Amino acid sequence: MPSRQSPAKTGRRPPYHHPFVTKPTVLIAGASIAGPTLAFWLTRFGYQPTIVERADALRLGGQNIDISGAAQQVVRLMGIEDAIRVANTGELGVRFVDETNATKAELPKGESSIGTRELEILRGDLAQILYDLTSDKVEYLFGDQITALTDEETGVKVTFQQGSRRRFDLVICADGIRSRTRSLVFGEEPVIKPLGLYTSYFTVPRTATDSAWARWYNAPRSRVVFLRPDNVGTTRASFSFLSEPKGYERLPMAEQKAILKQTFADAGWEAPRLLAALDDNTDIYFDGISQVKAPRWSKGRCAMVGDAAYCPSPLSGMGTSLAIVGAYVLAGELAQHADYRQAFAAYENRLRPFVEEVQSLPPGVPWVAHPKTRLGIAVFNAGIRLISSRFAQRIAALFNRKSDSPTNDSFVLPDYEKAAIASR
Ligand SMILES: Cc1cc2nc3c(=O)[nH]c(=O)nc-3n(C[C@H](O)[C@H](O)[C@H](O)COP(=O)(O)OP(=O)(O)OC[C@H]3O[C@@H](n4cnc5c(N)ncnc54)[C@H](O)[C@@H]3O)c2cc1C
Repeated sequence: MPSRQSPAKTGRRPPYHHPFVTKPTVLIAGASIAGPTLAFWLTRFGYQPTIVERADALRLGGQNIDISGAAQQVVRLMGIEDAIRVANTGELGVRFVDETNATKAELPKGESSIGTRELEILRGDLAQILYDLTSDKVEYLFGDQITALTDEETGVKVTFQQGSRRRFDLVICADGIRSRTRSLVFGEEPVIKPLGLYTSYFTVPRTATDSAWARWYNAPRSRVVFLRPDNVGTTRASFSFLSEPKGYERLPMAEQKAILKQTFADAGWEAPRLLAALDDNTDIYFDGISQVKAPRWSKGRCAMVGDAAYCPSPLSGMGTSLAIVGAYVLAGELAQHADYRQAFAAYENRLRPFVEEVQSLPPGVPWVAHPKTRLGIAVFNAGIRLISSRFAQRIAALFNRKSDSPTNDSFVLPDYEKAAIASR
């Protein structure tokens, strides 16, 4: 990597902006949320990123995710906040239903810190927006992955599964909670901590019972079926069930489908319709819900971002926001420091307290939302009714700390752009 002066400190153009000096190259593994967001900011700050994605095309599956707090500021700076708003799924809120589809409790959009949020978008739509934003400046390699890495003094030698070998100044793992690239760099050091829940996301045809309301159904024996409307005429389904870790996430998709069929066969409500639709799905996300705890996020010329580094789990409601903020901070610190080692250290120092806050889940998660018995389900629905009552909201507001979740945001976003502009 060419030696550089910190733009923030010198106010001068870093040497890599010289027309005869090549830009530093960064290989990013994973083209979902963290990878393309990082690539966007790296190009903005004078780097040349390449993204390698294991799947043959962008993976567009998944339910709504929401973008809040500092992440909302980042997408605004990227100029895509309006595109995200336009792609809103239009979900009106969440209804908690029983096996006859009768509503037992209801959380209208924006009326509590759980349920439907202001800036919600299908995960796949966000991935597409990020890809469209970056594809003219970033090299994308689909259907490939890194199989070997050698961190050398002057760069990282990378071998790809398809056979090519290349050299990059830096390599970043953004390949999700089960990141293989992370294993190549850090071995067994990062710990994947299971939270006792399996979840699967997939898409099904819309039927007459689906509306603009999401529907949440608790079946006895700690099983949940959750249906959410999308903006493309289909419905986004998820199955989740409490279970000790059984390694299901490592099984081939056909076996995962068989497990879902077996687990939800007698769940009632609309489970049979969803199980029948499973066979037609080729992009199922099925994972043991877990958090990633890594004692360090970088080693030599390699670092991690997003779920690969610090997955907080979907239960935090913050996986995507954290990935976006993390990518911005990593790119920003690289822009501010001449030495990548200092940049990686600054990235970790700045972000780690926020990650720890996001990863500390409220007590009782995920058991509270997955009761075992019919009585437990009735108590859960009564709890939701209480949350949604205006009286309870006023009481909660009196006792809340600064806000009732880290989404509202404890993280103060640094202004890296100002520093970068000052150096131009
Ligand atoms: C298909 C899919 C559906 C999802 N659905 C939901 C959902 O409904 N709700 C929710 O809360 N979260 C969902 N998630 C997770 C959510 O996207 C992340 O928690 C969050 O956005 C952080 O994103 P990330 O980019 O760090 O990781 P991820 O979104 O997990 O992306 C990792 C990317 O890396 C790719 N990849 C994996 N291994 C390799 C490799 N060895 N080399 C190169 N590329 C690799 C994957 O194909 C994927 O594109 C989903 C993820 C995926 C991939």
